[in-house]
Amino acid sequence: MQDTWLRELIRFGLLLAASVALGALLGHPLAVVLVALSVYIGRHLYWLFRLEHWLSRERRAVPPEAPGIWGDIFHQLYRHYRRNRRRKLRIARLIRAFRNSTAAMPDGAVVLNQFGQIVWFNDAAGRLLGLARQQDVGQRIANLVRSPAFIRYLNAGDFREPVEIPSPLDDERRLSLQVVPYGDGERLLLVRDVTRLFRLEQMRREFVANASHELRSPLTVIAGYLEALNDDDRVGSDWEGPIREMRRQADRMSGIIADLLELSRLETAGEMVNGDVIDVRGLLARIREEALALGDGPRDVELMLETDARLRGVEKEIYSAFSNLVFNAMRYTPASGRVAIRWYRRGQNLCLAVSDTGIGIPKEHIPRITERFYRVDSGRVRSKGGTGLGLAIVKHVLQRHGAKLEIDSTPGEGSTFTCVFPSQRAVDAAA
Ligand code: ADP
Repeated sequence: MQDTWLRELIRFGLLLAASVALGALLGHPLAVVLVALSVYIGRHLYWLFRLEHWLSRERRAVPPEAPGIWGDIFHQLYRHYRRNRRRKLRIARLIRAFRNSTAAMPDGAVVLNQFGQIVWFNDAAGRLLGLARQQDVGQRIANLVRSPAFIRYLNAGDFREPVEIPSPLDDERRLSLQVVPYGDGERLLLVRDVTRLFRLEQMRREFVANASHELRSPLTVIAGYLEALNDDDRVGSDWEGPIREMRRQADRMSGIIADLLELSRLETAGEMVNGDVIDVRGLLARIREEALALGDGPRDVELMLETDARLRGVEKEIYSAFSNLVFNAMRYTPASGRVAIRWYRRGQNLCLAVSDTGIGIPKEHIPRITERFYRVDSGRVRSKGGTGLGLAIVKHVLQRHGAKLEIDSTPGEGSTFTCVFPSQRAVDAAA
């Protein structure tokens, strides 16, 4: 381009010099220079016209062969145009491949813009959510999938886990929906039919509930006879020890059955929307007294009530969760240790933290500790008399209240279990 410009300038200079010389020779320098300039401008106007014509009408065709700087301009524009076209074709091919592969997917995919409006969706999403291509593109997804759980999920903006809802087309089917944010505020909504998994899960829940229920009556009979044998003078002293042990095990079994039934109930209950206003301060004071009355465990149980806020929820369940945490702290801390119960605000959240200076939990066990019957050390659980279901109950109660359990523990130093409730669950003392 530099060279062409130089040549164009030289050409212009020569034309000017030649016209001045010829003008001087003919005796009309100004007129000859004017004619030469007109011819020069006329030539440029002509190529400008050809350029405009080529750009507006036949850009796809090879540009005309133009002399000098015009040849260069045509050539550069044509190169840009071809490069752009190749890029567009590549992107179009990519989009086509993406659409074809997602169209073939059994799972639904919906592309949403930053306003939550549908930009595109595949066939499976149309089938699962009942979307129709023409009329639903451009609509807000929240207006089309109106399940309250899904709307809450969208508004909360925490998309680490999927949300399960009944299918909008058929109550018998279950869908799992997960939002995957990407790009500049855009989101991909993935939709899976999880009916089979849901039914299996339902069967498992029903089986556990029914089995526990069925075991309860025979166990009551056995416990009754053991009680009678215990009080019967005809039973020899040799039998005292075994009968005491049988009664202990029967009690343990009824504890497990009661916990299993409670878990089944919590699982089927789903998330709780409202609830009563719970005076947590009074509840914690009561739990502290009960913990001290257990007899073994530390005597130093501190209660730190740092907020007046009360909690909206189901009192019986909250009692069960909090007392499980406090009783565990007592159970897994030596008598010389300390337990602290703290009720406080952390930012917008309301928290209950139960800390102890007990045996602690090795890091690798923490992610699985809330699973039912999960044991860090099975011998230890039995000797401590736990059912192995306490933390599973805590987790479900918290889930039902929209809260989370945080566990922080160091073996040999102690543990802190923190229940973190969202601000919507807090009721200010003044209210
Ligand atoms: P359990 O009724 O046996 O205590 P949980 O579900 O309450 O069952 O607890 C599961 C396991 O977590 C326990 O067996 C114990 O190993 C461990 N654990 C719970 N709380 C504590 C704690 N405060 N300190 C140490 N280990 C604990």
